[in-house]
Amino acid sequence: MYGRIRSELTERLKEIRDAGLYKQERVIDGPQGAEIQVEGGRKVLNFCANNYLGLSSHPGIIEAAHRALDAWGYGMSSVRFICGTQAVHKTLEKRMSAFLGTEDTILYAACFDANGGVFEPFMDQDGVILTDALNHASLIDGIRLTKARRMIYAHGDMADLESNLSESMDAKNRLIATDGVFSMDGEVADLKSICDLAEKYDALVLVDDSHATGILGKTGRGTPEFCGVEGRVDLITTTFGKALGGASGGCVSGRGELIEYLRQKSRPYLFSNTLSPVVAGATVAVLDLLSGTTSLRDKLEANTRYFRTEMVKAGFDIKPGVHPIVPIMLYEERLAHDMADALLGEGIYVVGFSHPVVPKGRARIRVQISAAHERTHLDRAVGAFVRVTERFGAGDRIV
Ligand SMILES: *Cc1c(COP(=O)(O)O)cnc(C)c1O
Repeated sequence: MYGRIRSELTERLKEIRDAGLYKQERVIDGPQGAEIQVEGGRKVLNFCANNYLGLSSHPGIIEAAHRALDAWGYGMSSVRFICGTQAVHKTLEKRMSAFLGTEDTILYAACFDANGGVFEPFMDQDGVILTDALNHASLIDGIRLTKARRMIYAHGDMADLESNLSESMDAKNRLIATDGVFSMDGEVADLKSICDLAEKYDALVLVDDSHATGILGKTGRGTPEFCGVEGRVDLITTTFGKALGGASGGCVSGRGELIEYLRQKSRPYLFSNTLSPVVAGATVAVLDLLSGTTSLRDKLEANTRYFRTEMVKAGFDIKPGVHPIVPIMLYEERLAHDMADALLGEGIYVVGFSHPVVPKGRARIRVQISAAHERTHLDRAVGAFVRVTERFGAGDRIV
């Protein structure tokens, strides 16, 4: 039996390689950070991590993880409702609710699981889920697991969302699901309009704020704060695997009864192991840090503004915005990948994105800025972009 599927898979893997779509994993020889050591001992500047606040290897967070390990042990060997809930898990849930300004929070092993488990319990065949065409894969999968009707609205198109809402007034429950930040463009969802429409048409709002929690908004509370709709979003899903330390884990935070119901019914919560107490304890320390001072998100904001301004000055075509995800538009697939390789040669680690991750003819290099970057790092990156662009004779690609 295996012989048949093996030759089929060998063929398909060859197709992936031939199309230039094979994903190689680059091995890092040390901790995550602004500067990383890659195999062979070379040091490069990292511009492609979701380590927005530089907390992945922050000394205070590492220390908090050690303390949690000593106090609570390594693992729980249980799901939450059997014998897998420690005080540190309840503390993290309370602290997350306080940070996001919500009533309650439920932890998951990852935001992928949070999104996989958040819809199915209460969105049944009488419900309609309205979902942005560019939503994250985990939202798409979570919605697929429900019996609710799915209505996909054109990306960011509020008129299309409104017409879907008015067409689905016969449904018992309606829920709008959107990414808070769309990760290919670093673009913030129009939560103000979404919340207005939700109120007008009596729908719930769910925002996946994985690329915003801890960084967007004046105090880093995410897109609801950035868009001025605090208290109007019913459910927020987010990850601890990006700005909040970058280890793993995620949560759903929001209205009390919804969260209470998820604790009873959400399958990835009921049938998957508790988040390690080490991660829970360290994430509490992250929230302590971010509640005490906004200095890291302020530095990230300043770094982002500086890098965006310098790149525009140098003539690059970047999508305007405020997010530390900075897409450098190159349009041609091969150019984006070859330039990313050449940049790595210059000690700047960035990644080219092409179809099917982004639309055909919209290839780009996606740069991600961190609070761990210093001005000198940002200057080195801009300099390398200019040199590599000249070498590729791609000056016509930039304005
Ligand atoms: C990264 C990401 C996820 C997945 O988070 P994990 O905790 O790594 O599973 C989910 N949704 C969005 C929008 C993301 O960017």
